[in-house]
Amino acid sequence: MIPLGSCTMKLNPATSMYALSWPEFGNIHPFVPADQVEGYLELIAEMEKDLCEITGFKGMSFMPNSGASGEYAGLLTIRRYQEANGQGHRNICLIPASAHGTNPASAAMAGMQVVVVKCDENGNIDLEDAKAKAEQYKDNLAAFMVTYPSTHGIYEDGIRTLVKIVHDNGGQVYMDGANMNAQVGLTSPGFIGADVCHLNLHKTFAIPHGGGGPGVGPIGVAEHLKPYLPSHILFHCGGEKQEGAVSAAPFGSAQILTITYCYIKMLGGEGLKKATMGAIMNANYLKERLKDYYPILYTGNHGHVAHEMILDINGINKTIGVAAIDIAKRLMDFGFHAPTVAFPVHETLMVEPTESEPIAELDRFVEAMIQIRKEIKDIEDGKAEKGNNIISHAPYTAEMLMADKWEFPFSRQEAGFPMKSDVQDKYFPHVTRIDDAYGDRNLVCKF
Ligand SMILES: *Cc1c(COP(=O)(O)O)cnc(C)c1O
Repeated sequence: MIPLGSCTMKLNPATSMYALSWPEFGNIHPFVPADQVEGYLELIAEMEKDLCEITGFKGMSFMPNSGASGEYAGLLTIRRYQEANGQGHRNICLIPASAHGTNPASAAMAGMQVVVVKCDENGNIDLEDAKAKAEQYKDNLAAFMVTYPSTHGIYEDGIRTLVKIVHDNGGQVYMDGANMNAQVGLTSPGFIGADVCHLNLHKTFAIPHGGGGPGVGPIGVAEHLKPYLPSHILFHCGGEKQEGAVSAAPFGSAQILTITYCYIKMLGGEGLKKATMGAIMNANYLKERLKDYYPILYTGNHGHVAHEMILDINGINKTIGVAAIDIAKRLMDFGFHAPTVAFPVHETLMVEPTESEPIAELDRFVEAMIQIRKEIKDIEDGKAEKGNNIISHAPYTAEMLMADKWEFPFSRQEAGFPMKSDVQDKYFPHVTRIDDAYGDRNLVCKF
């Protein structure tokens, strides 16, 4: 399990990746004449139809190569629409404090000025503040960028009220669709009232990701924005106003659309909905099993989370001196990739299991987290020394565990095989504790 919250690291089924190695898809140049890529165009048209149905929108552009690129394309689409309607002066973009960093970055790239909207103590967008800011900037309000469910992993009850506030004040609603894995088949951006939304096909729709791409961040739009979708000078596509491209190729990373195509076709409508429900159920299962060991930072009005949750490590860090990053490192000894650390809230771990994990793997993760909580308690109870304990030195490489010298105040077995079940299928981290901040700023070669 790679439980990276917000990233939706789901299974990438091999069946959906076969087409990648077919020359019929792989050996096509992005600028060949349309009559030589009829198959590709058929596949893209059909995907547009399916994704419009899933999102409740009327048009799609496959040009953007990532979620961030989709945000940029979507905001430009809004801007062109507003310009065409004599509203080109609108340049204020409202963004809640909980937003992903790409949101304000894309707004700045699109030439907009970012105004931050507060979140309340439950982590939800403060609707009073949203209303006050929307009214304050109503003459210049261009857009509101909102993620649903929020990056706090909550279906915010106020979402439709928020959409109305933005529209009443002359703005357009940009939905960040990175969390579509909690919407597909149950609700949709179009149903909620958003005007434009990007999808991360490399999150929700099974394209492998991590390590920099390639990705696909298509945008869906409501009817009124269709004419302003990105277009391409060498290939007829996009909005009829032909306003220009946001990336080099007319359909972006077209080849990997074959993966999403297979994913959608193999699951079908009912299967996609079941996947969403599985993702929500898995997250809530983890939440129920972990809540007595780690505080869950936010839950919705009914005490549930959406498809991910935030474990709050602030208290443990303050009283015992074990930080979120320490837990992330120790998890490697159990064979788990760390959850998302410190986003969207400082000193937290955001966990997203996705629908792909079977119950045995969820249980293994729970056991690992409970075991780590016990190790933390030993420090709290004075049984282990602060700053010199099994967590502070983690993770343990094979080299460390097999060295002739072992000077730690705990056993090799406790360090390297913290769970019995690991003995048969042990993952050895390649690198032990490093200075993260130094490493971010300097290239360090081991050999
Ligand atoms: C991943 C993500 C993005 C950005 O998508 P990329 O494809 O990484 O550019 C934006 N918003 C949220 C909430 C995300 O999780």
